[in-house]
Amino acid sequence: MGDTTIINAKGNVSFAKDQARIASNEIREIVALLKAGPHDPNSKEWSNAILEKLGNAQQALLELQGGLFDLQDEKRTLKDTIAALEEKLRIKENVEYIKPGYWTVDGDKKDGPFCQRCYDADGKLIRLQGGKFDRWRCEQCNKTFYGPNYSHPKPRTLEVKW
Ligand SMILES: [Zn+2]
Repeated sequence: MGDTTIINAKGNVSFAKDQARIASNEIREIVALLKAGPHDPNSKEWSNAILEKLGNAQQALLELQGGLFDLQDEKRTLKDTIAALEEKLRIKENVEYIKPGYWTVDGDKKDGPFCQRCYDADGKLIRLQGGKFDRWRCEQCNKTFYGPNYSHPKPRTLEVKW
């Protein structure tokens, strides 16, 4: 996906337009030649000119066909890109930050928490792991997050018996 498909010469609208123009010009000249008829019925000049122009028109139509296939591919790629961006946008509209991270909210369904760093930096919803003592960790970026209910675990008292 990306710029390479857009720069691609055949996947270019102006390339397709040029080929269509070439084919159309050649066909117009063929029609003119046919209407005029041969100057000299014994010369092959007239029929050779028509054959040459038919060849040029055919070549341009083949190029046009290739260009249209490439444009079709490009259109598909762009559609996929738009769908992916729309999905990202839809998620973004339903994402809320509530410590320790992001949550997706869909009606009364809430899912999360997801890593704040990964979402802010990469736009990815990475589920936080753990949650014991409201202490969370991201497997992706290895950051630790603390929720509002976090409290240091009580240190074990060591009973020493003499
Ligand atoms: Zn992360």
